[in-house]
Amino acid sequence: MAKEELECSFCGRKKPETNLLIAGLDAHICDKCIEQAHGIVMEELKQGEAKELSSDLMLSKPKVIKEFLDQYVIGQEATKKVMSVAVYNHYKRLLQPASDDDVEIQKSNIIMVGETGTGKTLIAKTIAKMLNVPLAIVDATVLTEAGYVGEDVEGILTRLLQAADYNVEKAQRGIVFIDEIDKIARKSDNPSITRDVSGEGVQQALLKLLEGTTVNVPPKGGRKHPDQKFVEVDTENILFIAGGAFDGIERNISKRLNMQAVGFSASKSDDKIERTNLLKYIIPKDLKDFGLIPEIIGRLPALTYMNPLDESTLRSILTEPKNAIVKQYQKLFEMDDIEFEMTDDALDYIVEKAVEYRLGARGLRSLCEAILTDAMFEMPESGKSKLKVSRAYAEEKLDKSTISKLKAVS
Ligand code: ADP
Repeated sequence: MAKEELECSFCGRKKPETNLLIAGLDAHICDKCIEQAHGIVMEELKQGEAKELSSDLMLSKPKVIKEFLDQYVIGQEATKKVMSVAVYNHYKRLLQPASDDDVEIQKSNIIMVGETGTGKTLIAKTIAKMLNVPLAIVDATVLTEAGYVGEDVEGILTRLLQAADYNVEKAQRGIVFIDEIDKIARKSDNPSITRDVSGEGVQQALLKLLEGTTVNVPPKGGRKHPDQKFVEVDTENILFIAGGAFDGIERNISKRLNMQAVGFSASKSDDKIERTNLLKYIIPKDLKDFGLIPEIIGRLPALTYMNPLDESTLRSILTEPKNAIVKQYQKLFEMDDIEFEMTDDALDYIVEKAVEYRLGARGLRSLCEAILTDAMFEMPESGKSKLKVSRAYAEEKLDKSTISKLKAVS
């Protein structure tokens, strides 16, 4: 065959009609057909991904979700259960075939109430990891109404888009974790006196997102890039998880519980009220009394609480989760061929200090870091192959470090 007679074996274009003709063993393919084939492959992959997602989600029954959470989050049984059911129902809702009956499953957004450092963010992160969906973590304290200094509520979706690598489809199935939601509670009972920039107005703006709406989102964030093209994001299937410490809400709960007791003969269940952890008895009305507007509360129907972390929980957090702090150090030392171990005594000591300095679970890591910095600095070149951290060793290192000065402050 003469050279000029070469043609694409797929579309029959002659060589001069193509930009590029690639030869195979027995055939040729032109640039246009390659492009088309590439499109088909990408389309197939996308469909495959969607199928994978739905089968993954279907497999994740609540107990499976809970078991996954158990690997990373210690304790917090009540929240893990509520979360597993809410997430399961949420994704069941996403996968429901369009039907003509009138039963429309509503979203099961979640609100977790509990002190900081008890694992709220960790739970949201773990759920996102398990479902392999993008997660945006936002702090409600920076949110303001449009036009005020701070971040617009739409900014939340910008973050989610970024977490989804700008894949809108993916973002629309993602999770948004709104931390410190208690900070946008209405401050006064009379909102009409002054304009409440960070309170009710933000709650109203947030409400729209929670309800499900289409929002024009600036992909690079609001105000610094005024010329960018907006991306349309539908929040209908985004799962919102809110968290907050709600400082002082125990007072409302206690008041309510005491009031309930009046007029009733003290029943057995009243006797059993655990005064040390009143959050356990939280109901939506307590959130309303705290200053969240009823509409927001209605859109966060799964309400749950976090237990404060006691010594035994802190102790478990050090060693038990899949990526427990001690396991992380073991891995770091292993990379230098150093066998790393902490005695039970040393671990107890770290927990004691975390409690004493009121550092909670977040403090465990800083304490470990303070104790191990010297070793991590010196050992890689020392040729030693083992580090066993005893209580005495931990005490000595900690006494020398700045973190021990915290004692004077607290
Ligand atoms: P919150 O969002 O409630 O303020 P975080 O989830 O950010 O708290 O917790 C801070 C850190 O403390 C986490 O990164 C995690 O290492 C640890 N932590 C807190 N609670 C738990 C828990 N229940 N199980 C395991 N780790 C925890």
